[in-house]
Amino acid sequence: MALRDFPRHPLTFGPSPIHPLDRLSNHLGGARIWAKREDVNSGLAFGGNKTRKLEYLIPDALAQGADTLVSIGGIQSNHTRQVAAVAAHLGLKAVLVQEQWVDWPDSVNDRVGNILLSRLTGADVRISADGFGIGFKDSWTQAIADVEAAGGTPYPIPAGASDHRLGGLGFANWAHEVAAQETELGVFFDTIVVCSVTGSTHAGMIAGFADLVANFGGARRRVIGIDASAKIDATREQVARIARNTAELIGVGRPISDDEVTVLEGWAGDYYGIPVESTNNAIRLTASLEGVIIDPVYEGKSMAGLIDLVTSGDIGPDSNVLYAHLGGQPAINAYSALYH
Ligand SMILES: *Cc1c(COP(=O)(O)O)cnc(C)c1O
Repeated sequence: MALRDFPRHPLTFGPSPIHPLDRLSNHLGGARIWAKREDVNSGLAFGGNKTRKLEYLIPDALAQGADTLVSIGGIQSNHTRQVAAVAAHLGLKAVLVQEQWVDWPDSVNDRVGNILLSRLTGADVRISADGFGIGFKDSWTQAIADVEAAGGTPYPIPAGASDHRLGGLGFANWAHEVAAQETELGVFFDTIVVCSVTGSTHAGMIAGFADLVANFGGARRRVIGIDASAKIDATREQVARIARNTAELIGVGRPISDDEVTVLEGWAGDYYGIPVESTNNAIRLTASLEGVIIDPVYEGKSMAGLIDLVTSGDIGPDSNVLYAHLGGQPAINAYSALYH
């Protein structure tokens, strides 16, 4: 099968906008930096990268007769908020297991931002005492069992919609969308920079761009993942596995090689969800030069990586580099103590 053969339920406005960040580029004095904006990709509770992944999971959920989306994430999960909004939009129920992924003492951490939005959409929000991990937990099994016991039909969606057969398709489609936008803009993005945690965003891009090269006459480019999980080995393994599965699923026709899977460490700090100095500098610089807001959990870390790679010349001065802005701003409300 090819990517176009998979059913897609539109949840976004259409292609997400691409625009240059010229004041940031001039400030850094190197490559021309552009952004592709998943933070404004949808009208459903602020959207984001998970909304794109869900475009390919939803047809599967509906085909199975599901009436309840069940998913899992941290207290300030962007993913579960997007699941909740999509469920509301489709007239489905949502059960969300919210775990303690981040040891963050902000007094309103469990009341503002993403979790507030999930509650507004009517989701059954369940706070769990479990910690960080992308595996399966008792609270998760229980949530699914509860839906079944009540006579419902659950559709389980793993953390970040990543460890799912269809999880990589949303961003394989993103790669194809980029290629079409390049033709319109008359530019080729030789380097893509993307934040990576549960992995299917980056993995889907790897598979999608490999598909373009193998089957659509596209040119090769670098797709650089910046780890924000502070568990680099797990991230690399997950990205490589999902990239390979997705490439096979969409008929790339050749295996993904190791040198196509680049996940860099150095900007995550010691913990997922805790910003470090480079994160906060990147957030302030992007906001003050461009008016573009990025978050302390994900995008602040990938932007810190991009800034260093451009400044060091690793991404050369002649490069057009595309920064994937994956969303995530609602969480910033839980970090007010850092930015007053
Ligand atoms: C989930 C998320 C990411 C990471 O994407 P993965 O597919 O989990 O690797 C990056 N940025 C934001 C804003 C996210 O919500």
